[in-house]
Amino acid sequence: MSFPTDFTSVFERIEQINPSEYARTRNFKDGAVTRLSPYISRGVISTKDVFDHVLSLKRPWNSIEKLVQELAWRDYWQQVWIHVGEEINTDLRHPQEPIANHEISDSIVQATTGIQAIDEAIEEFYESGYMHNHMRMYVASLACNIAQSHWLNPAHWMYAHLLDGDWASNALSWQWVAGSNANKKYYANQENINKYFSSNQRGSYLDLSYEQIPTQPIPCELEQTSKFQLHTALPDNTPELNLDPNVETLVYNYYNLDPRWHAGENYNRVLLLEPSFFEQYPVTQHVLDFCLKLSENISDIQIFTGSFEALASQSNQALIYKEHPTNKHYIGVEEPRDWMFDVTGNYRSFFAFWKKCMKSFKKQKALSEDA
Ligand SMILES: Cc1cc2nc3c(=O)[nH]c(=O)nc-3n(C[C@H](O)[C@H](O)[C@H](O)COP(=O)(O)OP(=O)(O)OC[C@H]3O[C@@H](n4cnc5c(N)ncnc54)[C@H](O)[C@@H]3O)c2cc1C
Repeated sequence: MSFPTDFTSVFERIEQINPSEYARTRNFKDGAVTRLSPYISRGVISTKDVFDHVLSLKRPWNSIEKLVQELAWRDYWQQVWIHVGEEINTDLRHPQEPIANHEISDSIVQATTGIQAIDEAIEEFYESGYMHNHMRMYVASLACNIAQSHWLNPAHWMYAHLLDGDWASNALSWQWVAGSNANKKYYANQENINKYFSSNQRGSYLDLSYEQIPTQPIPCELEQTSKFQLHTALPDNTPELNLDPNVETLVYNYYNLDPRWHAGENYNRVLLLEPSFFEQYPVTQHVLDFCLKLSENISDIQIFTGSFEALASQSNQALIYKEHPTNKHYIGVEEPRDWMFDVTGNYRSFFAFWKKCMKSFKKQKALSEDA
């Protein structure tokens, strides 16, 4: 599984999308998923880019709806993050319970849980930086609902290794699985894992009915836990920044590596790597290298490791950046991000958000057909 970093390959990947195959097979290990999330998460492309492409295929709505809806989940989680801010790091609706620890099972980190399909997927995950959505749900359920770990520390472990790490989709999906942001917990038994991940394991501690699973004690395979901790080693500032004092500066960061942003216009372009940001949301070297390679699509970009204030002190012109929940301390000119639909706000459920999106989309469509 490879994730090329040149812009042409990213666009070729968009063109390979098959929306009806996607809808039919997305839950299976080898399903026709897009693998576009690393590029969307890093802000190289947007959900809107993918949506626009899918619309341009002129397929019937019912054959594209599933993919459009999944893309909208990402925008939905982002909207929640914008509105709840730092509270995203706390149990949003109900306290998760029961909780045995605030760590992660060693056997999950070491890919030795005893559930063969999960162990294989974790090994592959370390290699590729990608994990299938259904497998993310299995792993989160194993960590939170079977091993009874609070979701936050295991979520950091997964985020740190994901090329597509997006704290909104990540933390809020973990909370959804753990039941702290949903009305029930998500469980998968061995039969379900065998069906979707082509394994035929029997007799494991998950080989039980859905009535039995929640009543079991923590399996000994998952009992030993440790705190996941990581320090991200950021590049040092060599060569030093060389800003043209007569032009404004565009600030890129971990969530904005868009090569088309003001392309062809005269700006300084700086990729800002703030140590405080990576302390809060650490990532592995593999993931950081992917981010740095993606930044090479942006012409004349310079890399700066330091705080926003330190960058601002080197510039006598305005700093321009795209809106994002991790940027609230930036001072300068904020520009909007692209969204699929013209719907903002903190909706209590995805389907309430989706209903509003469909209403707005139909209205927009009717207006453009009238014009
Ligand atoms: C525990 C857990 C942790 C997750 N952590 C992240 C994360 O850190 N970063 C991240 O981008 N996604 C995360 N997701 C959501 C989802 O798993 C990934 O977006 C998806 O697997 C990416 O692969 P893909 O591009 O092949 O997706 P596809 O299935 O091809 O979907 C197309 C696009 O739709 C969006 N999408 C699809 N499924 C979801 C979903 N369940 N939630 C939100 N958006 C979705 C993504 O933008 C994705 O690129 C997480 C899900 C779970 C259950």
